[in-house]
Formats: sequence, structure tokens, C-alpha cells
Amino acid sequence: MKEERLKTQKPESSLSWQTYGHLTDPQVRQAVSVQSELIWLSQSFLRNEGFVQLLPTIISPITDPLNNEVDEASINCYDNRYRLTQSMIFHKQLSLNAYEKIFIVSPNIRLERPFKASTGVHLFEFTQIDLEVRNGSREDIMDLIEHLTVYIACGLKESALNGRIDISSEMSIPTIPFEKVSYRQAEDRFGRGFEVQLSREIKNPVWLTDVPVTKREFYDRLKDGTSVLDDMDLILPQGHGEVLSGGRREHEYDRIIRRIEMKGVSQDSLRWYLDLAREGLIPPSSGCGFGVERLTKYFCGIDDIAQTRLFPKVPGTLCL
Ligand code: AMP
Ligand code: MG
Repeated sequence: MKEERLKTQKPESSLSWQTYGHLTDPQVRQAVSVQSELIWLSQSFLRNEGFVQLLPTIISPITDPLNNEVDEASINCYDNRYRLTQSMIFHKQLSLNAYEKIFIVSPNIRLERPFKASTGVHLFEFTQIDLEVRNGSREDIMDLIEHLTVYIACGLKESALNGRIDISSEMSIPTIPFEKVSYRQAEDRFGRGFEVQLSREIKNPVWLTDVPVTKREFYDRLKDGTSVLDDMDLILPQGHGEVLSGGRREHEYDRIIRRIEMKGVSQDSLRWYLDLAREGLIPPSSGCGFGVERLTKYFCGIDDIAQTRLFPKVPGTLCL
């Protein structure tokens, strides 16, 4: 009754009504409920695997420089410039001095270019479940994630049976192990920009491995004697595309410096991290991060990532 009265008082096109429409959209509400279960399932799985959950670092003098172009987001604190976290990669690596296995439900701010508003997979505020394992190999992480994905899918089915969430009965449980395709093989088969086609063709998630060194950040480890990385992306079926990136990391100072020089990243912007690396305080590790919104989108069969958050931050637009 109150809603009806309010509706007649305000024009349908106002920002408030768009917001209200979004908050009460059945698809959004379904997705956010699924997301809540998905985060809880991920936390319980990782804790059972011996991971310690850390609280997120939101601001720091250093953050992931990323391989793709985004505008810098920073704030002034006590006359020091702090970056808003683009990913917690460096804090993850350093945390392994304290614990062997860690994860964070980590909010990231990435000021993506406005044209990314229409990709259906980019927001400028999103959340990763970001994890790292001391002395772990890339294969250890892939195995872990395969089991985590199945655990989440089974858990969502169970929650749907218990009436906690609403999910399509057609949602399938992925079968493991996932197929592995090297970047080179994918490019030979589908040509450049293969991700969309690969993602549309597959019925089960696929690992994309051995990405060329120029295509990723400096901290993923270069395979000796090659020009490819010991890394991986996870590609989801039905056109949902990449949901996860990760790999083995560089941890030795000389190698890190070589890679930074190759990339043209400013050493000054990473001073603190580099000082720790010089002291040998970066443990060897592997890890990965997956996008909570993109995973939600996949399990709900939603095309637009903005439908997976109550307050989506769409690149280039003013959002609540
Ligand atoms: P990255 O290491 O940069 O590939 O980021 C890890 C994961 O975070 C990606 O595989 C996506 O699932 C997610 N992600 C990265 N950027 C965005 C974005 N702008 N919007 C939503 N999710 C993102
Ligand atoms: Mg990636």
C-alpha cells in the first residue's frame, strides 16, 4: 500500500526509482541470495582445507599494478598517498610468512575504462576470493579449485532443496578434472581473442594454461627457458568467460627485478615490496583469485554482472 502511494508520487525514470527497481528485481534478489551461499560455502571449504581467513586490506601504499589499463584510485592519508586495492597479491605473498595457507574475501577497486560497461563482466568495485599457498604448485591450486567448484555446486543444489535459494534445476555439477588447454593451443584453434568462442563451445570449465609472458603481470613465474608463465585462468562454459586467474609466483629478488624491468613498471611504486624481496622475505608460493560476481553470474545463468549486486558499480557511471 505504502509502495503504491510512493510510486504515484515519483516519476518512474528517477534515479531513486531505478535503484528501487534494481533492489526489488527478482533476478537480482535471487542472484544475491545465491552469492551469499556461495561465499559461505567457499569459506567453509577453505577453512576445512586448513586455510586461515584474513581480513581485507583496502588501502596501502602498494597494490597490484595489473596488466590492463585502469585509472589510478588513491587517497591522501596523513600526507602519504595510499592506493585503493586493485588486488591483494603482494599482501597475500607476505602473509605467507605468518601462515601456510590464506584466503581473503577481498573487495577490489579497479577504475575500468567506460567502454567496459557493456561487456557484461566488468564492474569497478567487485570482490575476489583470493587465496595463496606457501610452497604450493600451480597444479595444487588447480586441484583445490576443481574440488571447491564442485563443493559449491553441490552445496547450492542442497540449499535449493532446503528452500534457502532458488536455482535452476538445470544447473549442472562440473565434472573433474577440468580439461587443460594451453594459450597457444587455444589461439591455434580459435585465433586471437579466443576467450569468447572457447567459453561458448565448452560444456564444462576449462583451464587455460601457460599464458605468454607479455600478457600478464610481472609476479607470475616465468617457466625457465620459455616465454610462457606457470599460470592459469579458469574459463567457464556458456559464454561466461574467465572467472579466475592465478599461478606460481616469482619470489626471488633478481627475477622480480628482471620482470619489472621487462614490463616497464616503476620500481618506486613498489619500493616497500621490493625491499622485502631483497631481504628474502617473500616465500615461494602459488595462488589465485576468483571473482565472486562472475561465479554468481555463472551459477545463476545471468548475462549481466550488474544483476549480481544490489549496488553494482558500472564502469563510467555514477552509482550508489
Ligand atoms: P585478475 O587476476 O585480474 O584476472 O582478477 C581475478 C578475477 O577477478 C578475474 O578472473 C575475475 O573473475 C575477477 N575480476 C577482475 N576484474 C574484474 C572486474 N572489473 N569486474 C568484475 N570482476 C573482475
Ligand atoms: Mg585474469
